Amino acid sequence: MSSAFNPLLLSAHNPSPMTGAGNNTYLLVAEDGSAVLIDAGVGDARHLADLASALETRHARLESVLVTHGHRDHASGAPAIARAHPAATFAKRPWPQEDAQYAMEWRALDEGATLDAGGGPLVVLHTPGHSPDHLAFWHQASRTMFTGDLVVYGSSVMIHTSAGGDLVQYMASLERLLALEPRVLLPAHGPRIDHPARVLSGYLEHRRARERQVIDALRAGHTSVQAIAESIYHGLAPALMAAARENVRAHLEKLKAEGLATRVTGEADRWRL
Ligand SMILES: [Zn+2]
Repeated sequence: MSSAFNPLLLSAHNPSPMTGAGNNTYLLVAEDGSAVLIDAGVGDARHLADLASALETRHARLESVLVTHGHRDHASGAPAIARAHPAATFAKRPWPQEDAQYAMEWRALDEGATLDAGGGPLVVLHTPGHSPDHLAFWHQASRTMFTGDLVVYGSSVMIHTSAGGDLVQYMASLERLLALEPRVLLPAHGPRIDHPARVLSGYLEHRRARERQVIDALRAGHTSVQAIAESIYHGLAPALMAAARENVRAHLEKLKAEGLATRVTGEADRWRL
């Protein structure tokens, strides 16, 4: 059965500095012609045309769209897909303030649900950290994990603490994926990953190394987020400094949650051990 599992990559056609070459969406078609799309893209006409022709070629019909999380590049295409495929249902884990921006009726998906997709069960895993509503989809028969924005090969994932991101949760989600021993990761950005253990362990080790650098910077007397970021990311292009500060903030919030760092009283962006 796992040999028949053959997710079809459909590009969302939205390349940008934030999305890289653009988002990957994945179409799973079962032998009976029922099809499931993982992630909705942004509603680009070329994505909709590719989807329509992939369904037609396979004599398939779109039954549901599973959205990994509410960020626009994954969810905002849902209304356009719904207009083209009125019988399809749309599902994600609820994130009320984000979900409200799309005129959609979302079905609620949560941890542990099992869906029939592409001819085999797909298990829903709640994997927060990049966003609070983030889901991964696990096809155990082929040991394939649809990882949304948990990993991007060759790059690191943004954790926006001011927008629901949480580094403690993110690292726990990576550990969870690693423990399931997947054979293939299919991320929403970048190429498929055929050596998941090495990539996931590398991600975890990279974050631990960054954390040690943040602790060293605090020890050296740097207290502001800006000074800590400058001490770690020497000579970084100014355009990338905001992302570096956001990353430092994510580490400081993690250290705070673990009782290792604290905000300097009365100073918004200053910290100490
Ligand atoms: Zn995202």
